[in-house]
Amino acid sequence: MGKTRTFVDKMKKDKATVRACPVCGAPQQAVRTLVPVANEETGYFKFRDKIEHVCKCNNDEVYG
Ligand SMILES: [Zn+2]
Repeated sequence: MGKTRTFVDKMKKDKATVRACPVCGAPQQAVRTLVPVANEETGYFKFRDKIEHVCKCNNDEVYG
């Protein structure tokens, strides 16, 4: 019973980070990227975390 439970928990975790691409159906990898955001008051840029879901469809877009 313990093993089954562990397996289910693992599946749940995987589901949180991996999802299927709506275009090609391949599993997409969640990749954390930093997006520059301009602060209008100071004029400085700061970086904000963004999670991109990457597969062959948008691989060039995200990494290019
Ligand atoms: Zn795709």
